[in-house]
Amino acid sequence: MKRNRKLDTSEPATSKRNHWTAGLLKSMEDPECIIKKDDKIVVIKDKYPKAQFHYLVLPKEDILSIWQVTRNHQDLLIHMHEVAHGLVERHTSHEFIMGYHAMPSMQRLHLHVISTDFRSPCLKTKYHWNSFTTPFFLHSSDVSRQLHEEGEIKKISSQKCIDYLNTRLKCHKCTLQPKNMPDLKRHILIHTDKTNKILNVCKCI
Ligand code: AMP
Ligand code: ZN
Repeated sequence: MKRNRKLDTSEPATSKRNHWTAGLLKSMEDPECIIKKDDKIVVIKDKYPKAQFHYLVLPKEDILSIWQVTRNHQDLLIHMHEVAHGLVERHTSHEFIMGYHAMPSMQRLHLHVISTDFRSPCLKTKYHWNSFTTPFFLHSSDVSRQLHEEGEIKKISSQKCIDYLNTRLKCHKCTLQPKNMPDLKRHILIHTDKTNKILNVCKCI
C-alpha cells in the first residue's frame, strides 16, 4: 500500500491532478464508476474492493482529506453519512461500517462504506486489514460528533497511524490473533456465515 505520501500537506490538491493519487477524481467523472450523485456528492464503487460491498462517498467540493475538514463542513459530513446509510439499506443482510482512513492515500475526502464480511481477493495485506479494524479507521459518526462538540477533528500523528497499520493481526469478531493474512481470511469466513441472515434462513429450512 502506498502510504509514503501523506495528504495532510499544505500543497494544493489541484496541483496533483495527474499524480496516481488523483485516481478517485477520474473515477468520479466516469459514468461506469458512479453509483449515485447529487449536487453535493458522488458515490463510486471502490475499484479494489476490500469486501463484498465497498463504496466511496466523495464531496464535489475540493477537500483534500479529512484533515482539511472544518466546522463549516459539518452539514456536508452529515449529508455524506446519510447517503452512506442509504447505500447500506440496499443490503439488509450485511453489516457495514462507514468511516475515513486517518492517513489516506488518495486525493479528495472519501467516506468508505464497506461490508464487514471482508471477503475479497483485493484484501491482501496486514495494512489493508488494520486500516479498517483499528482506530486508523475513523468512524463517520465519531468524526461528526467530534466536529460538532469540539469544532475540529483531533489530529492523529503519522507515527500513531503507522503503529495502527502495524498492529498484530486480530479478528474483528472474536479474540483470535491469526499469524498471517491467509489464516485470517480463512478464519473470518466463519463469522460471515453466522451474521448473514439469508444463509441462516436457508440453514433453518
Ligand atoms: P484511502 O487509503 O482511504 O485513500 O483509500 C483509497 C481507496 O480508493 C482504496 O480503497 C482503493 O481501493 C480505492 N481506489 C484506488 N484507486 C481507485 C480508482 N481509480 N477508482 C476507485 N477507487 C479507487
Ligand atoms: Zn473471529
